[in-house]
Amino acid sequence: MITTTKIWLSSPHMGGTEQNYVKEAFDTNWVAPLGPNVNSFEHAIENYVGNGTHAAALSSGTAAIHLALEILGVSRGDEVICQSFTFSASANPIMYLGATPVFVDSEKETWNISPSLLEEAIKDRIANGITPKAIVAVHLYGMPYKVDEVRAIADKYNIPIVEDSAEALGSTHNGIHCGSFGDIGILSFNGNKIITTSGGGALLTKSPELKEKAVFLATQARDNAPHYQHSHVGYNYRMSNVLAGIGRGQMEVLDDRVAARRSNHAYYLSKLGHIKEFTFLQEPEGYFSNRWLSCILTPSFEVREKIRTSLLKEEVETRPLWKPMHLQPIFKEYPSFTDGTSSALFERGLCLPSGSNLSIDDLERIVDLILKTLPYD
Ligand SMILES: *Cc1c(COP(=O)(O)O)cnc(C)c1O
Repeated sequence: MITTTKIWLSSPHMGGTEQNYVKEAFDTNWVAPLGPNVNSFEHAIENYVGNGTHAAALSSGTAAIHLALEILGVSRGDEVICQSFTFSASANPIMYLGATPVFVDSEKETWNISPSLLEEAIKDRIANGITPKAIVAVHLYGMPYKVDEVRAIADKYNIPIVEDSAEALGSTHNGIHCGSFGDIGILSFNGNKIITTSGGGALLTKSPELKEKAVFLATQARDNAPHYQHSHVGYNYRMSNVLAGIGRGQMEVLDDRVAARRSNHAYYLSKLGHIKEFTFLQEPEGYFSNRWLSCILTPSFEVREKIRTSLLKEEVETRPLWKPMHLQPIFKEYPSFTDGTSSALFERGLCLPSGSNLSIDDLERIVDLILKTLPYD
């Protein structure tokens, strides 16, 4: 009997040196939310992202978004614009701060925040008497958002950008790394991301003072005193020195991971691109996606479900594209500016297995199973 192993959507992929750094943490007893691995991991991120970036390693990407919004002064009663087509972690921190999310739909070229709907939303909210406090823009699935257009609008209305780069470490726009375009950027090192520390994140900023402020807030906001003194509400959001050891090892193989994910995408495109029912997201001129997840658009909800369920029966995990926030039960009462783009993507789109550790046999098996679901009448 032939047994096949389950193929996951996106699973962790260790490089080999991670355990040396973790062992070092144990050997030196730096088993704490600070230490040499944290510092070295931050330097590795700063060198990689470049463009004058300073990094604060944190416990998660969600924590990084929370601190970013807090540092930008978001508080109760404020409004924050958020890309609707994203994972809920982009929007939840707006709620933590007692602010109101205002959701904006996507454009079709990158699937990210639509510049025209963004401007419409800002004008509407200003006419309503409230200037939004921040814009959360997301490089979904690794594809950079319309960096120049979104920046021009943000600057025109003087609203800072929180750049959610959780899925886009290794992606670039005109040669500049994602994570360095926002007033504050964030990364995630969750288990399913392009590199992982099992759980973790980072806040990115060009300002050393803002980095210091993020670390201050992430370590319980202790004032400079010999006793424990606090004049701010603090958080326990710093990254563990043990996990930062995993991160150091992962940074050494990041470029390989990007290459492997891009090669998965190229494989799917070469085997399925000729099928007229399927559409793939192309990179516009100057855009370089890490292809965190490879996605296809099918002709209909029924076809998408047919593919998803037939692959599931064969132990192959796929997943519908993100369900937009303006359609989520928890968020549907909040203001939104939509034109049907993200709801159609959600209905028809499917993420294919995309791990950097997929073998060519895995990829062949996945493509064969998809081809077996044809024709669609
Ligand atoms: C994963 C992810 C996050 C949250 O990161 P965590 O480290 O899991 O908290 C935020 N935004 C997007 C778009 C993500 O994919």
